[in-house]
Amino acid sequence: MSLPEFRLLRPRTVEGALAHLATHRGNIRVLAGGTDLVPSMRQKLFEPEYVLDLRGISSLRGIRPQSDGGVEIGALTTIRAIERSDFLRQHYPVLTEAAATVASPVLRNMGTIGGNICLDTRCLWYNQSLTWRKGCGFCIKKDGDLCHVAPGGTKCWAAFSGDTPAALLCLNAEIEIASASGLRRVPLHEFYTGLGDDYRRLQPDEIVTRVLLPASSADYCGVYRKLRVRGSIDYPLAGVAVVMKHSSGHVADARIGITAVNPAPVLVKGAGELLADKVVNETLAEAVGDLAAKTAKPLTTSALTPEYRREMIRVFTKRAVMACAQVAGRN
Ligand SMILES: Cc1cc2nc3c(=O)[nH]c(=O)nc-3n(C[C@H](O)[C@H](O)[C@H](O)COP(=O)(O)OP(=O)(O)OC[C@H]3O[C@@H](n4cnc5c(N)ncnc54)[C@H](O)[C@@H]3O)c2cc1C
Ligand code: SF4
Repeated sequence: MSLPEFRLLRPRTVEGALAHLATHRGNIRVLAGGTDLVPSMRQKLFEPEYVLDLRGISSLRGIRPQSDGGVEIGALTTIRAIERSDFLRQHYPVLTEAAATVASPVLRNMGTIGGNICLDTRCLWYNQSLTWRKGCGFCIKKDGDLCHVAPGGTKCWAAFSGDTPAALLCLNAEIEIASASGLRRVPLHEFYTGLGDDYRRLQPDEIVTRVLLPASSADYCGVYRKLRVRGSIDYPLAGVAVVMKHSSGHVADARIGITAVNPAPVLVKGAGELLADKVVNETLAEAVGDLAAKTAKPLTTSALTPEYRREMIRVFTKRAVMACAQVAGRN
């Protein structure tokens, strides 16, 4: 599949990038590592006149610990750099665990944290060639007006399929978004809409510039578990991130994030309350797994059945809670 024709713009500064976005608003796509954008362009899912290559903007790279104990991560920082960061492994281990499961080593060398957060949602009926999609009469997410997954409905249920956002949600991450009119900071959980088609709150003239992890989320034990077809490369078909802190042998605080089973990555409501002040055992971990499974709403958007994916959310959550409790209890 060939790439559609486009003009490549290569700014050296954030201001230069924002000026291009303001000028070509609506007819331009941002490229970071390109590991998702380029295959999607080959499938003619996007046919922009301009592609804005951010890779020349060095100020958007890097992991910068802050004096208050938090950390800033530039949006262009590669997934590989995150996976290999000693600072992040020590203080935000759930993020390095999730990063290590993204795609394959080659893709992690190219792919960025900004691209992982902004990743398009995925569906069996959407991530296909133009000919394939045309043969099926297209669908709501692009060029059509029906959903093959939930016929009769008007909503797109394509699944958000990035790994690191589940971990970032557990860490109460914020992102910084820049446009020609200034900067805004958004809690990551407010960035996603929950819709499969219009899945993120990002205007056409905006880019994500930084990810901010607060000091208050540092030093939690963290575990990430993921279901995929090929262990060496695939997108998640279900993913669970757990963070936990102990005090005197009891859970002091915990959060659980799930991905790839809804149109947005989400925190499991009530999980922290269920675990608070308790000693983790199998029964409690199972109850938390049940809660996570109820939060998961997978549909037939991927190669594995929704029932299996929901069940694996239950199983992975239980296992991750048990594993996290063991590590947290030792610290
Ligand atoms: C075979 C294969 C397997 C994969 N497996 C996984 C996996 O297991 N887990 C996973 O999470 N991902 C997976 N991916 C997807 C992808 O490699 C990663 O999500 C990667 O982190 C995307 O980052 P990128 O920089 O390459 O994004 P790009 O492809 O450059 O961009 C992705 C999207 O984000 C937008 N974007 C990028 N950066 C910004 C920014 N700073 N501001 C605003 N918009 C931006 C782009 O416009 C585009 O819409 C896989 C991809 C392939 C091809
Ligand atoms: S969930 Fe429905 S509308 Fe969305 S991409 Fe899949 S088939 Fe298309």
